[in-house]
Amino acid sequence: MIRVTLWYEYAQEIGELRREMVPGISDGDFQHFEEFVRSRVEKIHRVYPLGLMGTLEEALRKDPELEITPVNIYMPEYGLPDDLLENTDVLVWWSHILQDAIPDELAYKIVQRVQKGMGFVPLHSAHKSKPFMYLLGTSGCLQWREDDFCRVWTATPSHPIAAGIPQYFELEEEEMYGEPFDIPKPDDTIFMSWYRGGELFRSGCTWTRGYGRIFYFQPGHETSPNYHNPYVQKIIDQGIHWAAPTVWRPDFDCPNSLTKPEEK
Ligand code: ZN
Repeated sequence: MIRVTLWYEYAQEIGELRREMVPGISDGDFQHFEEFVRSRVEKIHRVYPLGLMGTLEEALRKDPELEITPVNIYMPEYGLPDDLLENTDVLVWWSHILQDAIPDELAYKIVQRVQKGMGFVPLHSAHKSKPFMYLLGTSGCLQWREDDFCRVWTATPSHPIAAGIPQYFELEEEEMYGEPFDIPKPDDTIFMSWYRGGELFRSGCTWTRGYGRIFYFQPGHETSPNYHNPYVQKIIDQGIHWAAPTVWRPDFDCPNSLTKPEEK
């Protein structure tokens, strides 16, 4: 059994923002932000009657080897208390508008857990999440524009994450993410996406940090229907299996500038 925690930001789906999640924002900006968040709710529910992460969860529950715990940012301790993190083999992470709401302390706990062996599967806009940036040491910045037709190419067909995935598959609409993508050179670039506008993007990449494995996968914009796509579901499922710990090193606690900034 692989203990999978599905961490989901959830804000745009319920249209609720809490002031403490966006510290330092002016009243006027907060009001605009709230209006934006509320404006997304109907469209997300039209595309995903079960919710974005609810749809992915339903697909992953068909895999009997996964034991899934869905959580979100509105739960106590941002949905990821220590006892849950300590009992997670693979952490799947979808975040977007509240990246900065996650305290550094929690982000560094995730980094350390990965270094000890936990798998980490950041999805879509989690390229700007704190755990992603702190693990990889780069900004995660990329080019961006609204939805476009997308062809996802399997660039490394021999990789277990690509098992059973054709040479390419197509998504009628997905938010365009393009190069340059500010990431360290991946261990493997398994998927590359081409958009009708001509852009290219390394959309499925792996790295290791300490004893842990990381798989980033791009499709999953909240108003595009791609978590219904069987290839996308299969890739995320296989990404979880690949990232599941093979070796645990619970005593791996090496202070460094990434994990213990206060000890510098
Ligand atoms: Zn998006």
